[in-house]
Amino acid sequence: MLSCQIIPLNQYLTQIIDPTGVSCFLLQGSQESVLIDTGTGMRQLLQALEDLSVSSPLVLLSHGHADHAGGAAWFDQVYLNRLDWQLVQKHCSLDMRMGYARFAIPPEEQTFASDDFAPLKPDGYKSLESGQIFNLGGLSIEAIHVPGHTQGSMCFLVPELRIMIYGDACNSNTFLFDENASTVSGYYETLLDFKKYDEFYDTVLFSHGPVTGSKQVLEDNIELCEKIIKRTDDAMPFAFMDKQALRAAAVDENLNRLDGRIGNIIYSENRI
Ligand SMILES: [Zn+2]
Repeated sequence: MLSCQIIPLNQYLTQIIDPTGVSCFLLQGSQESVLIDTGTGMRQLLQALEDLSVSSPLVLLSHGHADHAGGAAWFDQVYLNRLDWQLVQKHCSLDMRMGYARFAIPPEEQTFASDDFAPLKPDGYKSLESGQIFNLGGLSIEAIHVPGHTQGSMCFLVPELRIMIYGDACNSNTFLFDENASTVSGYYETLLDFKKYDEFYDTVLFSHGPVTGSKQVLEDNIELCEKIIKRTDDAMPFAFMDKQALRAAAVDENLNRLDGRIGNIIYSENRI
């Protein structure tokens, strides 16, 4: 039976992996609980929150993609950067989310039906701004605009834990190839600017794959942007669902970089 996996990372922070494998993060201060991302909106997320005795958390969305904003309709207070308000309506259609679930869940486990998903949240998002701070009681979250993967992508700094939640904004498989993403040059400017937060955190959290990592991934992706712009990257062919793109650094069969570095970028040749 499909379920979410609940993994406590420390006394304030819990990772919730939804049935499609994407991670959401629950931060609990003395006064407020904040859920960062809502997965694809499969009902197992509600069960996980019930198991954790959390009701009506404030929700912050890292961006508007189907696998992050999918459960938004279940919550009253949902923050999303304005630049993703249009995108979220398209990406969180039931069709897109069920398509993603069919892609991510092994066929023999695909026991879900359309009513296992949250409805599409029609509108009513609250504006999530760069520099906005949420106080949870003994714990705070600062939202930081890191456009690239989508124009409204946000990272979340938890200074008390020295953690930065990167989401999909910068990782070992950073998708920049679709029409909502920045060009590689635009993303490069974003990353250089994002470096100013370096001193405030040691650990980074990702939404896909192994959850914890180091900020080396940021240095790696800055270097890869430089190589892509100069056309000196490995430019390996890459396919995802029905899309074709290029992967900046060559990887082995386990998708680890051949040179041992961590970051990687998937981009389109005509969006450099
Ligand atoms: Zn995404």
